[in-house]
Amino acid sequence: MNEPAAPSDDDTPSAAALFDSPLAEAVAAAGVGLWEIDLASGREWWNDTTLVMYGLAPGSTAPTRAEWREHFVHPDDLARLRATAEEFERTGRPYAAEYRIRRAGSGEVRWLVSRSAFKLGDRGRVLGITLDVTERHDAERRAREAEAQLGHAARQVGFGFGLREPGGERGEWSPELKRLWGLPPDAPTPLRAEIFARIAPPDRERVRQRLYTPIEPGGLSEYSFDVMRADDGQRRTLTTRAYTEYDDAGRPGRTYFAVIDTTELLAREREMAELLDVQQMAAEAAGIGTWDRDVLSGIDRWSPQCARILGHPEGEPPLSREAYLGLVHEEDRAFVRSAWERADDVGEPMDFEYRVVRRDGALRWVRTRGRSEHDAQGRVVRRRGVIFDITERRQAEAERHARELAERANAAKTEFLSRMSHELRTPLNAVLGFAQLMALDSADPLSPAQRERLAHVQTAGWHLLALVNDVLDLSRIEARKAPMQPEAVSLPAAVAECISMIAPKAAEAGVAVHWESPALEPHEVWADPTRLRQLLLNLVSNGVKYNRRGGWVRVGAQRRGTMAVLTVRDNGLGIAAGRIGQLFQPFNRIGRETSGIEGTGLGLALVKLLVEQMGGAVEVDSTEGAGSEFRLVLPLPPGQGGSGVPLTPWPLE
Ligand code: ADP
Repeated sequence: MNEPAAPSDDDTPSAAALFDSPLAEAVAAAGVGLWEIDLASGREWWNDTTLVMYGLAPGSTAPTRAEWREHFVHPDDLARLRATAEEFERTGRPYAAEYRIRRAGSGEVRWLVSRSAFKLGDRGRVLGITLDVTERHDAERRAREAEAQLGHAARQVGFGFGLREPGGERGEWSPELKRLWGLPPDAPTPLRAEIFARIAPPDRERVRQRLYTPIEPGGLSEYSFDVMRADDGQRRTLTTRAYTEYDDAGRPGRTYFAVIDTTELLAREREMAELLDVQQMAAEAAGIGTWDRDVLSGIDRWSPQCARILGHPEGEPPLSREAYLGLVHEEDRAFVRSAWERADDVGEPMDFEYRVVRRDGALRWVRTRGRSEHDAQGRVVRRRGVIFDITERRQAEAERHARELAERANAAKTEFLSRMSHELRTPLNAVLGFAQLMALDSADPLSPAQRERLAHVQTAGWHLLALVNDVLDLSRIEARKAPMQPEAVSLPAAVAECISMIAPKAAEAGVAVHWESPALEPHEVWADPTRLRQLLLNLVSNGVKYNRRGGWVRVGAQRRGTMAVLTVRDNGLGIAAGRIGQLFQPFNRIGRETSGIEGTGLGLALVKLLVEQMGGAVEVDSTEGAGSEFRLVLPLPPGQGGSGVPLTPWPLE
């Protein structure tokens, strides 16, 4: 409280009288402590309020100066108090001191303020008052600390704040707010006109409206605008949040606002939005739909592509999960549901394919990929992912599967035929061999009737052998097990050989066979010579067989680019237009089964297989009743226009 001079034994009762005065009582009731010191004796008088401030019982004896310093004053404040007291005694000027004491008993620290003066006309006596200012002090300290912290935080995060009086021209801005506008932190708060001059013109009117209208009670107003910074002239985006205080009568008072610089933030947001846009576009272009179910907000989103894939009308809200299951194909529902559950329960990523039946009835295969997101408590807060239509892929897979099955079945059939024909040939050769022996046996000659019957057996046997051979050949070629050795084959030679082989039959049928263009190009083709003869023989013999007496068959050749075209024409029976499409099918005799013309229906099938395996093709034109033209298109030998590599090497058995 004071730091007067040395103690003395002199007792002066007048102090107690002073404390008992009605004025003193009023002062004490107001919580003001009173005290008096006799400097000569060091003796003190404290009123009860002072005693209670120190944690002492009312009515007890006040401590002496020395005791007071030793037991009550906070050691950190002692030196300061002593200096103040010395100054007081030297100059006699009233003083005020703020210091801490420790209360008796509890040891609680309190902040006190004392003021004192010499008693009027008596430099030996000091009168003083003491106030306990702990609460105020604490509040002040807290406020100071808060301000320091806020200032620190404000600088750290670039956060400014301020207030505006209602209708006031000038508000109060924190240093950081000034910094945000590019003003020195200690500059005076700018006037409205100065503020508006710094706001980007397109934003001015909007901000003006905000500034002149108080924010509705309880409301928060948030808005952003661009400013030109005073120091470096940079354009920055500031975002403000403000609220207005109202008095009990509902009149608007101060408006408080906080401001941050959001330039980078907004730029990043814009970038993100653009990036999302681009991603969305890419996804749309790739046919990928996106879906997002926010469990917390209950908001579900389907991208337009997602809706399209599911045949969901555009503009309609997404289906709930339950309703979605209704869209899923009945057979896939249980499995989709369990995949969903696994994603929710154990966080397993979703990736599965299933069918949906769209509203328009179309069945589509879709693939969903996504995940369920959980909060710290493991609750699902969001599910999102992508969906794409895989119907085409699924169809292609199904087709490939069917094709593979068919190919396997075909291979098995070929294998079977090849074995069968092989097994049939051995006994058939025995039948034919013994029939021949019987016919030629002069030691045991047959009767004319027996000879005739045996001839039938032989004819049937030869036919059967031809059939078996053709089947075997066909199956071996089909299985690409027939070795082929391509070389340059002379056409005139091959055709001549073929014509001479067919000559007896042609003569018998009364059909003339000619080589039309022996002198013309091309002279050679690139082919397996044996197979080429087989091809020609097949076509020429058909021309003879399906002909009439007096008819002709003409074989010719010409060039077509890098290919040679061998033509076999006849003016025979021809083929009905509707049947031409059935040519080249094994065993299909297109209606000639009962004509009496010998045949198996395998010749043309063999022709097609062979010519294609030699890198060529077969073409046909025919008119019923007028005749037919079959064309073999074959490569020319290398050096004569042909590439020389028309034949793939066949794997040999
Ligand atoms: P095949 O002669 O053993 O019956 P092919 O495979 O050689 O078997 O011919 C299939 C069918 O095509 C014949 O049965 C016949 O009806 C028809 N055909 C083939 N060549 C001719 C042709 N030059 N003129 C008319 N019809 C033909």
